[in-house]
Amino acid sequence: MRFVRVCALLCFAGVAAAAVLADAQFFDVSQVGDGVYAAIGKNGAFCNAAVIVNKNDVLVVDTHLRPVWAHDLIGQIKKMTDKPVRYVVNTHWHPDHVQGNEAYVNVFGPNVEYLAQHNTRDDMIHKAIPSIQDSLKDVPEGIARMEKALTEGKDSQGQPLTDEQRTNIQKQIEDQKAYLGELKQMQITLPTITFERSLYLHKPGERTIQILYFGKGHTRGDVVVYMPKEKVVATGDLLTSGIPFMRDAYPVEWTATLEAVQGLDWNAAIPGHGDVQQGKAQIGKLISFMKDLVAQVKAAVAAGKSLEETKRAVTLTSHAADFPVYKTAAAFQRNVDAAVDRCWNEVSGKIQD
Ligand SMILES: [Zn+2]
Repeated sequence: MRFVRVCALLCFAGVAAAAVLADAQFFDVSQVGDGVYAAIGKNGAFCNAAVIVNKNDVLVVDTHLRPVWAHDLIGQIKKMTDKPVRYVVNTHWHPDHVQGNEAYVNVFGPNVEYLAQHNTRDDMIHKAIPSIQDSLKDVPEGIARMEKALTEGKDSQGQPLTDEQRTNIQKQIEDQKAYLGELKQMQITLPTITFERSLYLHKPGERTIQILYFGKGHTRGDVVVYMPKEKVVATGDLLTSGIPFMRDAYPVEWTATLEAVQGLDWNAAIPGHGDVQQGKAQIGKLISFMKDLVAQVKAAVAAGKSLEETKRAVTLTSHAADFPVYKTAAAFQRNVDAAVDRCWNEVSGKIQD
């Protein structure tokens, strides 16, 4: 729940810019290139997928937090094509990108290959799978808190609940109970093919799909899925509509990784969270933010400042307008603080792999 709540605050599920093709419960599916589709999460599903329909098979990028969401997308894919999903790419190990993996092998059988960078497979084994146990404790605690609020008729600040809040809480309780049921059964299917720097899938007469690792970033294993002919890239959480989740990040190296992604020839990006991005404006804004962040934190560490002193010294408010996903200055600042925290630890040499 800890992770889910953090992510829900950071992430933003919007409506895809292009025409919506299929009416899924949890995704707006839209075409962004010939045979390339973005599935943008909605109705509580806060994470995206990319779907690439080839002549003989289908590749899906990322599988969401909940298998039920993955099954919803599979339903949409089956309406789009009778070709089976043969490849699943996990852009990184975070639960909201891998916990739906099992849906694909369950529906399409053992021929599905799961592709990821070496570090991502390791992190799925040592972090994603153990995190299910944390969720099995956190989710019931969250449900208990919400049930208490309903019983007492007050929110966490002691204010009386409105009818709307009451309805929302009831819906969240139902959702979390359903998620808990999924967690109890969950088996995260691990990558079957891993690689260090890149893996190309050659589809003669159709396209080449390049799965590329440019170094550490949002995690130590993020890949992008790049289609040079269609000029589309699926970025996972290296690029989102906001300041991406920082807990497992390497901000110093992330900047160079983002510049490598920016250097590819593409017109549209399917991010891990938020809407499809047309053009390179948003990646440019994120790179500018990261450079400023890293430069200020490096200066503070060089001056011997503690983490708390560094948080007070760093000012990034000039970037706030570049992230309109945050509706308040406080929301923007919370994300800046998380970024400063992680960056200070990285620059101070306190992060172990
Ligand atoms: Zn992530």
